[in-house]
Amino acid sequence: MRLARVGEFILIEGIKRNMANKYPPQVIEGIGDDCAVLCPSAEKDLIITTDTLVENIHFNTHWMDYYQIGGRAMAASLSDIAAMAGEPLGALLACSLPANRQREEFDLLLKGITTLGERYRCPLIGGDITRSVRGLFINITVIGEVDRGRALRRSNAKLGDEIWVTGWLGDSRAGLEYLRHKPSLNKEIVAPVIDRFLQPVPRIEEARYLCERVMINSMIDISDGLSSDLRHICQASRVGAEITCSLLPISSGAKTLAKNQGISPYDWALNGGEDFELCLTAEKGVLDYIVKDFEETFRLPITKIGIIVAGQDILLVEEEGRKYLLEPRGYNHFSRK
Ligand SMILES: [Mg+2]
Repeated sequence: MRLARVGEFILIEGIKRNMANKYPPQVIEGIGDDCAVLCPSAEKDLIITTDTLVENIHFNTHWMDYYQIGGRAMAASLSDIAAMAGEPLGALLACSLPANRQREEFDLLLKGITTLGERYRCPLIGGDITRSVRGLFINITVIGEVDRGRALRRSNAKLGDEIWVTGWLGDSRAGLEYLRHKPSLNKEIVAPVIDRFLQPVPRIEEARYLCERVMINSMIDISDGLSSDLRHICQASRVGAEITCSLLPISSGAKTLAKNQGISPYDWALNGGEDFELCLTAEKGVLDYIVKDFEETFRLPITKIGIIVAGQDILLVEEEGRKYLLEPRGYNHFSRK
């Protein structure tokens, strides 16, 4: 049935029923009144983030179903909470859809959002649904909390810090390129990168694990691409960085696809974006002790890729020690051609 025949209030009533009994104790009032009411835990700071996905900019319905679109929208906002080492409390969904979309499509979108939300104990606590003239817009605001004064910022990287990243870099871009071009490649090799594009995982648990064990100086999630996001750390901390090209973690799926497309996999790893991995800096040596346990716990690599240096440039160190200036070529909404 078309949304035009269902109406806003029936949709909201359905969401409200779905969310009953799923609120953490900090949520006093969820969906149903003018505002949600939260009572943050003692000794915690509130953290708030928002992220918008626009049809044909961030996704389209040829490559992704509505469930995957919803999950991706939730993952993008949860990834920002992870980047501050926070715990989510609840999410607000603002969604605009053309009236000719089907009720079933909206329900799938919502299922994608709430399924990922449930996994990270982040129920919907409010929102707004409107009609759009053209295309689908999804905005998700997530409210979370973090121990008082312990939110991990971009601005505290120190000279000599090692730079680490979780997971694989460039997988999401590789997955997108596969869906665009559908080359005939071994499905087993490319399946993980397609998954990484269609169903990204916010690193909430990984960030909490790291912060409980190690003194991390700065952290960011890689949403625009390492070359851009590491620059955010460097600019905020007034430092430079050197990245060793051969250390960048690139999966066999991304390598295979890059070779097939005649593109350097390093380009995807540095500039691809939307990997939703964590990039963090910590004093030399402190992470070495937990690498093995981290990788066994999460079945995910954590890799040292470089070092924080004086200055303001990010240099890429290639084989034989040649150094190149790394330009920020990650995603930038108003400069992309
Ligand atoms: Mg972010």
